[in-house]
Amino acid sequence: MPDWLIYGMVYAGSALMVYNIIRYIRYELRLQKDSKWEKERQVLYLPIFLLVMFLFGYLAIGLFGHPDIIVSGILFGGSVFVFVIFGLLQQITDRIQESERLEADLRVAKESSRVKTTFLSSMSHEMRTPLNAIMGLDALALQNPDLPPETRSQLEKVGDSAKHLLDMINNILDMNSIEAGSLTLKEEEFSLRQTLELAGIITKNRCEEKGLTYESRFADALDDYYVGDETMLKHALLNVLGNAVKFTPAPGSVTFTVEQTVSVGPSRELRFIISDTGVGIDKNLLPNLFTPFTIGDTSNTNRYSGSGLGLALSKRVTEMMGGGIAVESKKGQGSTFTLTVRLKASDRKAEQAADSAEGETQLSGLKVLIVEDIDLNAEIVADLLDMEGISSDRAENGLVAVDMFTRSKPGTYDAILMDLRMPVMDGLDATRIIRDQDRPDAKTVPILALTANAFDEDVRNSLEAGMNAHMAKPVDPDVLFDNLRHLVPEHKEKHD
Ligand code: ADP
Repeated sequence: MPDWLIYGMVYAGSALMVYNIIRYIRYELRLQKDSKWEKERQVLYLPIFLLVMFLFGYLAIGLFGHPDIIVSGILFGGSVFVFVIFGLLQQITDRIQESERLEADLRVAKESSRVKTTFLSSMSHEMRTPLNAIMGLDALALQNPDLPPETRSQLEKVGDSAKHLLDMINNILDMNSIEAGSLTLKEEEFSLRQTLELAGIITKNRCEEKGLTYESRFADALDDYYVGDETMLKHALLNVLGNAVKFTPAPGSVTFTVEQTVSVGPSRELRFIISDTGVGIDKNLLPNLFTPFTIGDTSNTNRYSGSGLGLALSKRVTEMMGGGIAVESKKGQGSTFTLTVRLKASDRKAEQAADSAEGETQLSGLKVLIVEDIDLNAEIVADLLDMEGISSDRAENGLVAVDMFTRSKPGTYDAILMDLRMPVMDGLDATRIIRDQDRPDAKTVPILALTANAFDEDVRNSLEAGMNAHMAKPVDPDVLFDNLRHLVPEHKEKHD
């Protein structure tokens, strides 16, 4: 072995070792900047140990003379080894830092989505509160039998416009929850026939107003009851039915067909076919028809106003129900939309439902506590209840409600209608305090959230606080009375 090679290896090894030491110092400084790196820095003990070993080796050679081939080989090889270890460490650190950056980005995105949801939630609250007053007062004004026909027609238009606005707010909110992944479908037993009849009546009325013919064909094979999210299904259907009427000028027709295409065990596949003989859809629009905010050619938008959310929402909902939506359309000739969903059939039969309906309470004579901070809203609800012969007391916030309930004789109130957002004490706290009391009706008195908050999370919170049901404002009188008919007897049975 020539001397020059041995010296070459020693010099090259020394150079590499100096380089490694410099790298180590820089690497160490970089890690020090990031205090979270304590644990990762333990990995560095291996190269430090090796570096110190080799430093001793070099010093020994320098002090004790001529290095032989084995010693210089080990020193050279060792330096290369330390160098490689540093390279690997560097790569690992880079990767960890990259994933930390991604995590931080994700946190920012989640936070901004949360802010958006909170904003929409409070905005919807702000919009529903006045809408609640408009729709409630309009319904009350229309009760007057002596209205001049012109005023009646104006009031009906106020109601229609308010309803339209409410539909739009609901669509925006639903779409937002779906996009944020926070909308979960309910699994409730419902009568599809009733849903279809209701959608049919609404569509038939709209058709009659426009001079269109309406035809419905519901398959005989339909089960009495299904399990699923009736509200969302109804939304999806009404969006498409509404469009069929909206985009069909008279004379024309709208047809609503319902078929059951698959029936295996309790699983059912249902197909809803909605056809119209209206303006049809341009070929170019078809590919984006189900994308949010797509609206037809702008020459139409003045005649047919819309937000372009209806079909997008119907598509998402049917997809969440294991189906989908398809369209066939020819400009000038009409359109056919086919919605498919999968639902479970329930064993319950229509007769049983009729039996249980007999057990329901007469509403007249009941007494309800209305907890609501806004005077006008409280008056509207009180007037609605009064129409059914239900008397009411009012508390202007949660604390007053707790106080009134505590002072009342057990059984005084047949139900409590509870607003959620109120000054002094909110509805959730008030409900918890009422439920915790030691008196016979504390656990059983039905507490119904009546609130402008329409988010799933609000529903969950109110149920967790001990409420029995959640109704979004503006309150639909039918829903309110149905809930009372259903919940009050249960309470009376347990309490008596
Ligand atoms: P919008 O709220 O604007 O009605 P949709 O998502 O429901 O939003 O519909 C998007 C667009 O699709 C409409 O603006 C219209 O151009 C077109 N469209 C939907 N249904 C029909 C139909 N039955 N006939 C003709 N065009 C339709």
